[in-house]
Amino acid sequence: MTISHAAQRRERILSAAVQQRLLDADDAPLAGFVDLDGVTDSVAALQNAFPPSVSVQHAFAAKANPLVPLLQELRRLGMGCEVASAGELAQALAAGFAPEQIVFDSPLKTRAELLQALELGVAVNADNFQELARIDTILATRSSPSRIGIRINPQVGAGSIALSSTATATSKFGIALEDNGNVDRLLRAYREHPWLTWLHAHVGSQGCPLDLIAQGIAKTVAFADKVNAELGRRQIVGIDIGGGLPVDFDSDDSAPGFDTYVARLRDHAPGLFTGDYRIITEFGHSLLSKNGFTTAYVEYTKTAGERPIAITHAGAHVATRTVFQPDSWPLRVTAHHPTGATKTGPLRAQDIAGPLCFAGDMIARARPLPELSPGDIVAVLDTGAYCFSAPYHFNGMLEPAVYGARTVADGSIAFQLLRSAETMDHLLSRSGTDVMN
Ligand SMILES: *Cc1c(COP(=O)(O)O)cnc(C)c1O
Repeated sequence: MTISHAAQRRERILSAAVQQRLLDADDAPLAGFVDLDGVTDSVAALQNAFPPSVSVQHAFAAKANPLVPLLQELRRLGMGCEVASAGELAQALAAGFAPEQIVFDSPLKTRAELLQALELGVAVNADNFQELARIDTILATRSSPSRIGIRINPQVGAGSIALSSTATATSKFGIALEDNGNVDRLLRAYREHPWLTWLHAHVGSQGCPLDLIAQGIAKTVAFADKVNAELGRRQIVGIDIGGGLPVDFDSDDSAPGFDTYVARLRDHAPGLFTGDYRIITEFGHSLLSKNGFTTAYVEYTKTAGERPIAITHAGAHVATRTVFQPDSWPLRVTAHHPTGATKTGPLRAQDIAGPLCFAGDMIARARPLPELSPGDIVAVLDTGAYCFSAPYHFNGMLEPAVYGARTVADGSIAFQLLRSAETMDHLLSRSGTDVMN
């Protein structure tokens, strides 16, 4: 079996982390890692996928991994930032993004949040007609440098994971394009609001075939053309095509890749590449998932019903979606010696259990792996997106430290702390000790 480049890099990061005691069986049995060289490569792949003839701003979907030092790194690589709450807006601002590099999407923006975004000049995509009316009220008393758009739902259908499909007939996101009367209401909104100059759709994500996503964008571009034709002016100047590119969680391949997606977009929506529209993208998964992994020590092993079980420090608190929807979000697991070196040997079906006190807290079931022993390390792969940002607070688990890792000139690995491990004091204060007298 050939070992992929990504697997070699992971093994080197893991071994260096053990040597430097960032991972320690007693003091730091759980940690997250982001491969910053991989992030640089992924951003470059995205930037190079679009032809230089179109003006594109790539905004990273903060919810995928909002660790502020990581957002700062993405900003330095030329990314913008897409945020979906006041909290994510604060994270993006803390990372140094200028307001005009930030796009604010969310199905629920309060009046105060809208006012803040419009005063700062953050781009805003309205989710519905009522929100548009709120924006109109705010703009009646002040002007704003914000680019303002409206999110439509092109209603092209679901992929294989219902909970992450955003463009179904009844999706909660955006204005349903095909619903009776909505095209006319949208046309009226653009006619009455000259400041409404962008159009937004986000079709995805994991589990959606590329053609389905590209069809959704094609309908969005066709609708922008229609608005501009009906109004007899180029009022819509930009299209925000969202993110949603799925990721291959089964191998180290980064397929389907941004260039494949752009090729599919060219087939389905050639109007996007004429230069008539500026473009914003909002990728999350496809930029970060494969550039992160989570490591945990095996604390104990036992068998039950003849099945070997490794009890590890990684559970629902660090891989929430995987634990609660194991069929939709299976994650690869690799087995390592206490030094970090990859374990070899005959494979045996083993359960990889987490530490939480409920039966479903399993990272993997009956997974063929070299036999694990106490003191070994498991690496849970492809956790760079939607894991470090989505902790599950149960059983008083502390959130682990997350490190960025980079290969430096002499070939060694340099680590950068992206988030410190949560302290017991912090856990106690979020458990109400701060209000005790
Ligand atoms: C979640 C989200 C994204 C990112 O989706 P990925 O599947 O991670 O690429 C982009 N835009 C919006 C509006 C989102 O809600």
